[in-house]
Amino acid sequence: MSSAHVTILGSNSAVSVFNRFPSGQVFTTEHSQYLIDCGEGTQFRMHQYGVKKSRIKAIFITHLHGDHVFGLPGLITSYQLSGRKEKLTVFGPQPIKKYLDLSLGGIGHFISFPLEIVEIDPNIPHEKFTEIYSDHRVKVEAFHLYHRISCFGYKFTEQEKRPKLNRDFLDTYQPDVASIKRILNGEDFYTDEGVKIAHEKCTQKPVLPTSFAYCSDTIFHEPLGELLENTSCIYHESTYLEPMKNQAAERYHSTAYQAGIIAELASAQKLILGHYSSRYKIIEEFAEEASKSYAGEIVLAVEGKCVEL
Ligand SMILES: [Zn+2]
Repeated sequence: MSSAHVTILGSNSAVSVFNRFPSGQVFTTEHSQYLIDCGEGTQFRMHQYGVKKSRIKAIFITHLHGDHVFGLPGLITSYQLSGRKEKLTVFGPQPIKKYLDLSLGGIGHFISFPLEIVEIDPNIPHEKFTEIYSDHRVKVEAFHLYHRISCFGYKFTEQEKRPKLNRDFLDTYQPDVASIKRILNGEDFYTDEGVKIAHEKCTQKPVLPTSFAYCSDTIFHEPLGELLENTSCIYHESTYLEPMKNQAAERYHSTAYQAGIIAELASAQKLILGHYSSRYKIIEEFAEEASKSYAGEIVLAVEGKCVEL
């Protein structure tokens, strides 16, 4: 079973109301953590919900609207003041370099830890993934979303784990250490009598690596469903409910029902809804509406919630 989970730091759209705050989520796998979007006050909510800032290895910004990025200069300043030594990579659309340079008073003068800012090529192909980051825990792919300004979604996929030995096989054949090493490297096993036991029979069935796709902000774009096929969990913005469908489209946002369509088309096991408009005080209706288009598990983003993947 995967240990991956997502912690919600901000679930609202532009304005902070009803104890809801602008966008921010942390994807965790094993002990590696990655921040996605950084609305105003994100670093304070990390502290509030026990997310250790120092563990964040990379930050992924979807677009440069304030509700997704106003917390970033503050967070980077805190890293500087707390003496961060580890490298930090920030991904986002153009002109994120200029934005940070201006808001930090010149990155080169101010920051003394290794800070890399990567602007995602606006010409990456549509309806496709482009790998932008990889370490021993996770790979991250960017894809186009469709908002008023350049906006990217991110898909996190855990790296494939080494196969595990099958208990029955171990009990029956009691292989020595050298044989176990060979099996774990993908080889078959041979008994003392020279009988071959195929690698697949020696190991447990591989499970699909856990994956998480973050889709905010975007107008409803049906091809996303196909692109995200077999993603374990999808976060899809649901700024509005269906009675506001026209306004959603005009403002390049989606409804909960439309988010459900994307998750259903992708056969995702779980859908997280969020980026609620400030016009809605009660959010339960979002889950109700999405359940009309999506049969899987629906989770409403709420500050501090930890969603197992
Ligand atoms: Zn937004």
